[in-house]
Amino acid sequence: MALTGIQIFKLLPKTNCKECGVPTCLAFAMNLASGKAELDSCPYVSDEAREQLAEASAPPIRPVPIGKGVRAAKTGGETVLFRHEKTFYNPTMFAGIITSDSAEADVDAKLKAWNALQYERVGLNLRPELVALKDVNGDGVAFAALAKFIAETSEFNLVLMSEDAEVISGAVKAAGFKRPLIYAATADNVDAFGKIALENELPLAVKSDSIDGVIALVDKLGELGVKDLVIDSGAREVKQALADQVAIRRAALKGGNRSLGFPTIAFPCEMASNVEMEGLIASMFVAKYGGIVVMSDLTTEVIFPLLLERLNIFTDPQRPMTVTEGIFEIGNPDENSPVLVTTNFALTYFIVSGEIEASKVPAWLLIKDSEGLSVLTAWAAGKFGGDDVGMFVKKCGIMDKVKHTELIIPGYAAAIAGDVEEELSGWTITVGPREAAHIAGFLKSR
Ligand code: SF4
Repeated sequence: MALTGIQIFKLLPKTNCKECGVPTCLAFAMNLASGKAELDSCPYVSDEAREQLAEASAPPIRPVPIGKGVRAAKTGGETVLFRHEKTFYNPTMFAGIITSDSAEADVDAKLKAWNALQYERVGLNLRPELVALKDVNGDGVAFAALAKFIAETSEFNLVLMSEDAEVISGAVKAAGFKRPLIYAATADNVDAFGKIALENELPLAVKSDSIDGVIALVDKLGELGVKDLVIDSGAREVKQALADQVAIRRAALKGGNRSLGFPTIAFPCEMASNVEMEGLIASMFVAKYGGIVVMSDLTTEVIFPLLLERLNIFTDPQRPMTVTEGIFEIGNPDENSPVLVTTNFALTYFIVSGEIEASKVPAWLLIKDSEGLSVLTAWAAGKFGGDDVGMFVKKCGIMDKVKHTELIIPGYAAAIAGDVEEELSGWTITVGPREAAHIAGFLKSR
């Protein structure tokens, strides 16, 4: 269990030296207990106290790294129940199931199809991360061979699904280098699975038929020294599975229950009879509070909306997504190419640049820092005023790149045209379209 503020205070030096940024050791202790401070902020904690305080200062839900390579990610590490309280940090990971009786050629085809499920959005590459290899016949040799094949021939990381320690052991030897998640330790195999996870330093899922059962397994594995755990409460009925997710998250964050302070894994594939319904159930777990969501298949129509939902939920609501201020070249522009300016809200940038690209008219796109606001909002908030835009155009270096003196401003910022003209003496300010969808036609018609 986490320590209380008073228990932490007793372990601090009590000199009130203020070096940690708060006036007293007591205030620091309270902040540490509520997760608002880092233990390292106090330079005077003794080694002995540090050891005892490590638990209190650990995140309430342990972040667990899964996988290696470009699709490696962490699950867990969350600190709030609701996204609007702060932010969610580690996006739900998506897995598609491959069964161990599959022929290698079929697996190869499936991996290629799943690998194509990658989407660019606001400068990010959205894609599923995991293959869940499921043992369906106890054939350890075939299981290990497929684990090796997937690990070596694809970017996907692995969930190794078997309750047979021998089968898991063989697959870990073959594909352990990819840091797979072992699924799952149960009451029957916990010692053997704990040993495999410990010896190979791999994350391990625990599965029981109730939250109490999960707690018993987690505590036992904790005593063995296995720290990177993922929880499956065993519920396969949608209502109960959701209730368990919420109960686990609440217990970890509000109740300080360290035995439930781990990310979860959920199985829509075992709760629905078709892939569309699986997608709906998966979307519920993205919102509440699945760390890993396992699907029977990954298809464009199901995974794309899930990836977008995930992007929205795991984006920091207090920080707009932005692009860097500067000059962006679209389609090899030259000294005669048009110059457009807009704000640095990521969505604005990607929509505008996409429309310019679609026009096939090479252009210079100037992105002015507007603290991540869209054009109309930035203008209304005084972050995209005529003077500012004019000064930005002068200092950004575009004048060295073009011969002409025409600047195209967004239609929604038409009101700043006069001020920009005043700041940029000798330049012609052209008001472009209000809607990005009209940019291509506007550029082509010139
Ligand atoms: Fe107390 Fe350490 Fe903060 Fe100094 S830095 S006030 S000793 S907690």
